[in-house]
Amino acid sequence: MPHIVSVLVPTPKQSHLPDALSYWAQTDLAAGTLVKVPLGPRVVLGIVWPQPKDTPTTQGVGKRAIELKWIVGVLEDFQPLSTGWLDLVSFSAQYYQRSPGEVALWGLPPQLKNLSSEQIHLRLKRWQKVCDKTQNARSGKPAKAKNNRSAFVVSEPPPLEATQAKPVTLARPFSAEQLSALTLIDANPGPFLLFGSTGSGKTEVYLQAIQTLFEREPNAQALIMVPEINLTPQLEARVRERFAPEWGEQSIVSLHSGLTPAQRLSSWLAAHFGMAKLVLGTRMSIFASIPRLKIIIVDEEHDVSYKQQEGARYSARDLAVYRGRLEGARVILGSATPSLESWHHAQVSPTPGGKPRYQLVAMPARIGNASLPQVHRVDMNHQPRKTIFSSHLLSAIANRLKSREQVLIVLNRRGYAPVLQCNSCGWKTQCNHCSAYKVFHKLDRTLRCHHCGQTERVPKACPLCADQDIGMLGVGTQQLEEQLQEALQALGLELGREIQIERIDADSTRAKGSLQARLERMHAGEVDVLIGTQMIAKGHDFRRVTLVAAIDVDSALFSNDFRACERLFALLMQSAGRAGRDANLGLERPAEMWLQTHHPKHALFEALKAHDYVQFANEQLSERQLANMPPFSAQALIRVEARAGHAALGFLNELHARGSALLQEADPLNRDLAFEDIFLYSAVPMQMQKLANIERYQLLIECASRAHLQRFLRLLHEPLRSLKKKHPGVLRWVIDVDPQSL
Ligand code: ADP
Ligand code: ZN
Ligand code: ZN
Repeated sequence: MPHIVSVLVPTPKQSHLPDALSYWAQTDLAAGTLVKVPLGPRVVLGIVWPQPKDTPTTQGVGKRAIELKWIVGVLEDFQPLSTGWLDLVSFSAQYYQRSPGEVALWGLPPQLKNLSSEQIHLRLKRWQKVCDKTQNARSGKPAKAKNNRSAFVVSEPPPLEATQAKPVTLARPFSAEQLSALTLIDANPGPFLLFGSTGSGKTEVYLQAIQTLFEREPNAQALIMVPEINLTPQLEARVRERFAPEWGEQSIVSLHSGLTPAQRLSSWLAAHFGMAKLVLGTRMSIFASIPRLKIIIVDEEHDVSYKQQEGARYSARDLAVYRGRLEGARVILGSATPSLESWHHAQVSPTPGGKPRYQLVAMPARIGNASLPQVHRVDMNHQPRKTIFSSHLLSAIANRLKSREQVLIVLNRRGYAPVLQCNSCGWKTQCNHCSAYKVFHKLDRTLRCHHCGQTERVPKACPLCADQDIGMLGVGTQQLEEQLQEALQALGLELGREIQIERIDADSTRAKGSLQARLERMHAGEVDVLIGTQMIAKGHDFRRVTLVAAIDVDSALFSNDFRACERLFALLMQSAGRAGRDANLGLERPAEMWLQTHHPKHALFEALKAHDYVQFANEQLSERQLANMPPFSAQALIRVEARAGHAALGFLNELHARGSALLQEADPLNRDLAFEDIFLYSAVPMQMQKLANIERYQLLIECASRAHLQRFLRLLHEPLRSLKKKHPGVLRWVIDVDPQSL
């Protein structure tokens, strides 16, 4: 008998369409089933969605039913997406103000929609074959004959015999802190904030927590999230080394945007059908279908790349905590410099007298009691103008190179010089399309905008006054490399070898494999000095680095983004964390971190010198509390893009008026409550007002209560849609909930 089913299709929230559309189907279909349905002129992939209560059944649908279309096809034998997954999608859509269709279809691999059921079967069969081979090779059993379908339509795989999961023999004993962390994690439900110093052995704790779980529940699956997978090939290697011998190479899959569509599909299917026990991925993997997910690790949880910056602007870290609760999975957030949000959640209970949201697990000591580097500040006010490397720093570097130790230099600005300027009339290399300067790249003598990509040759003379006296302002990584090469030449002669300097930034690592090659050279000790942007400060376990220097860090101290200091502190502390990790080097001098700054007395540097994250975090939090800023309030931004600034501003000003009118009324969901606690700021240009000729404006909304803000945002969709019609000059609007930069 025909049924009416609700199907999620990728309809944007901005449209007037309902979240799920109704279709006819031959049979009733379980929620989570994948189907193909007609949508306008196209056939699209859809997901059967739980029926809303008031959906008419086949009887009594009346006239409307005649207009409904039929489902075109069902992906057969495809185990439906789990209720947990559907709930995650539904929550994310609500919280981040998108349609569930957008979020759901965004979470699926794009290639899924091009595949027939047959093709999916074929793929799974191939995958299963490889799995069987590795399994049999391990257990020494001959391959069993399989009938062709049941091999992959498993909803529960056969339980592994308990004896198969033998505890690994550890290459080395855990440190006392690692042990107590593991004991805590084992005995409590979490979520946990693993606050462990750089080099305290957090990775080992993650892996052992997963191992323990697999031993107890051989069918469980795990998810490890990392900020950027390319930057941490080491982690993937450690995960494989740990689990592949036991579970097979196929049991570990990765999910990130660097995969080909086919690879992404394979990984996704392997996780969905339970063949992959462990998914290692970037933020997108939070939406992977992992039906028996029992543990989620969020490594370097403070990293901004967990926040998606376009489309559905979700925070994978926050969703991890939510998903853990939904699916009963343990969640471990780990960092040496937790985000202030997470730190706050690990300190303060949301209810008086209750427990904090996250359980704090601390590992303050480094493995082997290696000490954290000594921090030195160079006051650049006392250096000759335009000094790039102070003489103190240079001689400290030379000392390290003499004893074959490695040096790391962080400068968060690529290119040769950030701006060129005419010394006679003051003209600067402003990008015509963006509110930004074009950066000078010396190698091909170009000026490049790092925002819109626009590139041109360096002019021979000033385009305004024709003077040829064009000078450079500021330093980028390329210039740093050149200057250091020069400064270390004499040392090279003295030591009778060429000093090897390597640079890692977005420019030097564009070619495929070049980042990996550079990191490998560094690990192999073939590099003396590694220069780079924040890419080199993250997570790497360089064993012979004993000196880290940060150049030109002052601009973030006075940024108007209230998170700038938090970010700078994390970057510097993480950078420092790359030095002196190996207690067995037997150093004559303790490892060191150098800062060149014009504000050596700044509280941020004082806290850094003391390696005191806690003090820094608590001070920042009390400032935020006074100013009523996150995590003491919730924020959302409405961002608008238009060709002309006045169009964007006009739109937002009108929205402001409509929003203010709403604030005068009672909350329609709770008549006793006015929206009194909501504050609407005036519309302002974004920090980067113009990008690729598009004008960008924003309006900030702040509220002490997250739930209240959510309700208010929901009420704004209607005015937003109608204003969009009224203002044809506006290209798009978007709501950014919990924005990470203002
Ligand atoms: P973190 O992620 O906390 O910065 P890692 O997990 O990278 O630290 O560990 C730092 C280094 O210490 C790594 O080289 C790791 O192999 C090593 N290590 C971890 N645990 C132990 C241990 N119990 N004994 C000896 N070395 C360890
Ligand atoms: Zn000029
Ligand atoms: Zn530009």
